[in-house]
Amino acid sequence: MLETAIIGAGPYGLSIAAHFRRRGIPFRIFGRPMDSWLNHMPKGMMLKSDGFASNIYDPDSDFTLKDFCAQQGIEYSDAGIPVRLETFSAYGLAFGERMLPKLEDKLVVGLDRAPEGFVLRLENGETVTARRVVLAVGITHFEYVPEKLAHLPPEFLSHSFRHADPERFKGRSVAVIGGGASAIDLAAALREADADVQLVARQLALKFHSTPTGKPRSHWQQIRRPKSGLGPGLRSRFFSDAPMLFHYLPERLRLEAVERTLGPSAGWFVKDKMSRVPCLLGYTPQSAEVQDGKVRLHLRAVDGSERDVLTQHVIAATGYKVDLGRLPFLSAEIRSKIEVVKGAPVLSSAFESSVSGIYFAGLAAANSFGPVMRFAFGAGFAARRLTETMAKALAQSPASASVRSVATTAK
Ligand SMILES: Cc1cc2nc3c(=O)[nH]c(=O)nc-3n(C[C@H](O)[C@H](O)[C@H](O)COP(=O)(O)OP(=O)(O)OC[C@H]3O[C@@H](n4cnc5c(N)ncnc54)[C@H](O)[C@@H]3O)c2cc1C
Repeated sequence: MLETAIIGAGPYGLSIAAHFRRRGIPFRIFGRPMDSWLNHMPKGMMLKSDGFASNIYDPDSDFTLKDFCAQQGIEYSDAGIPVRLETFSAYGLAFGERMLPKLEDKLVVGLDRAPEGFVLRLENGETVTARRVVLAVGITHFEYVPEKLAHLPPEFLSHSFRHADPERFKGRSVAVIGGGASAIDLAAALREADADVQLVARQLALKFHSTPTGKPRSHWQQIRRPKSGLGPGLRSRFFSDAPMLFHYLPERLRLEAVERTLGPSAGWFVKDKMSRVPCLLGYTPQSAEVQDGKVRLHLRAVDGSERDVLTQHVIAATGYKVDLGRLPFLSAEIRSKIEVVKGAPVLSSAFESSVSGIYFAGLAAANSFGPVMRFAFGAGFAARRLTETMAKALAQSPASASVRSVATTAK
């Protein structure tokens, strides 16, 4: 029986696997490498996170984004030069090839209990039994669409997760709903692809990170707004550097912090591009119906005024909400036994759910370990913590000890 199966090959799955490999924890990793980045974010996008906060982690920091860029002759800076989506995706693929040659590009289509652990069914029909399973499925499966739009047929409504290629909308009218980075990035990309795009957001003003001045920061600025993996600020510093402390905060505070921290704001480098996108700010969709081959969106403003927008397609760039009920591969039995709060699993300090042997990392762990879990920057902490946990479990399990001795003899 396999010791640990990792489901997911994005920044979290890759980082966890690289740590397990180095520590000698037997595992297999399944998933489409860097799929969210390659196929579900708009081409040409820049990362919001700084260069130093956009790594995939191995225990010795042997292959950082900086190393990759140096090898490829790509301009890099820890901060100040935005990282291109294409660079980060290529880095992730290169990391996988270098650190995890046995990564299996296969989806898991079933996860159920087995006598001593779990059984995974893969898309090619193979079954794998594993004592423990780490789910690192990121944003996949968790697209959120507001109820008032959800009834529209798919030819008229999609989620931003479905759009890597804005060219598809060239010459067509599109309304992008949302005021966060996903919405702003996509609206700007659609405009560049000559789509007739407009952005509808409930905020009265769009927010952008402040443009770096290039000047060194004063001592006071460094104390007042220290640098962190989630951007400058004392709160961000706490969230990025102390996920374990965060875990011990009362539940109400944790949930509030995850909901309110790092609200909608886009990278400074999109501001110029957005000046060419018409925006309806302060408006929320109230209803939507299809009329003569178009969608009529009925919007209400904060001041109570109303207006309609006619468009060929609506894109809900309204983010992601963890809901275990949406993981299609999870058996009903496992799902019913995992304790959840607001759809997300309740996790121990070791990332373990209430079903012993099932672990979650990444977005699904945000309510337990804080907003850092929504970003690649949190993958280092998750990987270290899970590695400690698995190494301990391996040391304590008699059956696993024989696995280890076979592995050692084989070397
Ligand atoms: C538009 C946009 C911009 C963003 N910008 C940034 C940024 O600048 N910086 C940043 O840090 N974060 C950014 N994020 C957040 C980003 O999504 C996360 O940081 C990152 O993807 C987390 O990595 P992950 O490994 O948890 O998940 P993902 O990258 O989503 O990877 C999920 C993995 O799970 C796999 N998977 C899913 N289902 C299965 C299955 N059934 N079987 C096997 N494998 C499966 C997928 O194939 C994939 O490999 C952005 C998100 C969006 C939407």
